[in-house]
Amino acid sequence: MSNRLLCKAVSKSYFNGKHETKVLNNLNLSVDSSELLAIVGSSGCGKSTFLHIAGVLDSPSSGEVIINGVNVHTLTDKERATFRNKHIGFIYQFHHLMMEFSAVENVAMPLLIRGISPKQAKKSAEDILAQVNLSHRLHHRPSELSGGERQRVAIARALVTNPSIVLADEPTGNLDFDTAEQIYKLIRELNEKLETSFVIVTHDLVLASKMDRQLTLAHGQLKEMEIAQ
Ligand code: ADP
Repeated sequence: MSNRLLCKAVSKSYFNGKHETKVLNNLNLSVDSSELLAIVGSSGCGKSTFLHIAGVLDSPSSGEVIINGVNVHTLTDKERATFRNKHIGFIYQFHHLMMEFSAVENVAMPLLIRGISPKQAKKSAEDILAQVNLSHRLHHRPSELSGGERQRVAIARALVTNPSIVLADEPTGNLDFDTAEQIYKLIRELNEKLETSFVIVTHDLVLASKMDRQLTLAHGQLKEMEIAQ
């Protein structure tokens, strides 16, 4: 197995004048290929801060983030954007779909940004939407979809670029139990089929318990978590 994501002694503080808020404190993590990892923590413990740093959207105050062997600190801002588009997929709690665009247009967007032709981008978007069982909803806008369908579109959008790692922030956070279960099954299926690693930040202990590994984030560090299976 190879490392998809490696965090070495990552620390992050926010400064408000002279006041320092230390959020991450010498955090270490290694995520292997094809791994499904859950990170659980209370509100305000630094989960979003961690996801932003692991997703190359923000930089740590100190420490290193290495994704697929690349130390991301060596990249310029422009290179980081290209790197994100190539290697990382994001799934947010509130899907963040573009409301004026259809499902297929939303999913095609990361490929268009990459410079792929509209025809090819649409074909790839349709293919991945078929994998999340939404072939019958290609031209629906987010407002015309159910919560679970919107989240499946968001998952398709995260996966359409075939990233090696997907970072998900409460992917089942606003869904009912049955829909959350469907989303979990889909994540597991896609993980097995496409060998995508998932790092899922969640409050949902039921979802977390189904992942390959569970960690808790507390006091700025990640620790192994015991969950009854
Ligand atoms: P979580 O996602 O676990 O709820 P966050 O990562 O959003 O937590 O925030 C962790 C802590 O860092 C919180 O106490 C929050 O108030 C603080 N924080 C987050 N962003 C900033 C910022 N830009 N400036 C100052 N403090 C911040």
